[in-house]
Amino acid sequence: MNAVASTHDGGCTCRQVRYRLTSGPLFVHCCHCRWCQRETGASFALNAMIEADRVELLAGDVEVVDTPSNSGKGQKIARCPRCRIALWSNYAGAGDAVRFVRVGTLDDPDRLPPDIHIFTASKQPWVVLPPGTPAVEEYYKASALWPKESLERRAVLMAAVKAASGAASDTAGSSPPATS
Ligand SMILES: [Zn+2]
Ligand SMILES: [Zn+2]
Repeated sequence: MNAVASTHDGGCTCRQVRYRLTSGPLFVHCCHCRWCQRETGASFALNAMIEADRVELLAGDVEVVDTPSNSGKGQKIARCPRCRIALWSNYAGAGDAVRFVRVGTLDDPDRLPPDIHIFTASKQPWVVLPPGTPAVEEYYKASALWPKESLERRAVLMAAVKAASGAASDTAGSSPPATS
């Protein structure tokens, strides 16, 4: 796969903010939790997890809004300052190092279908999950499901987060950064 083929451009509705994912994501979550349902006003959120330094702003800037989250630790939602569309979130788990990019804001969202369905315990009953895609009632361990390349990227990321926070990090476990 060449580099250009794996980049993804996206942006808000008013087009003030434009961004580019400079590689494919680590993993794509389709989250059926009630919090995501409320935040999207729909049935689930589709989030592509990617290292923050692989999200390049091409135009405009985002406004970061502190928002409550299911974990109680809060999330930061990056929105267009003009049309207020949400572009990505950062959650407490991995802090600012990992962005959960809202797949629906990509120009071609069809390229990033879910790698897993999570929190299906609160899935709206009319949503029928496709066979062949992993689905879990709540959460899961990345070590069991992420592709090798993503686990390697995650190890690099975790080492950097740990170094930045001056060790004593509890993020070295095998769970991916919590999404809510
Ligand atoms: Zn906008
Ligand atoms: Zn959720």
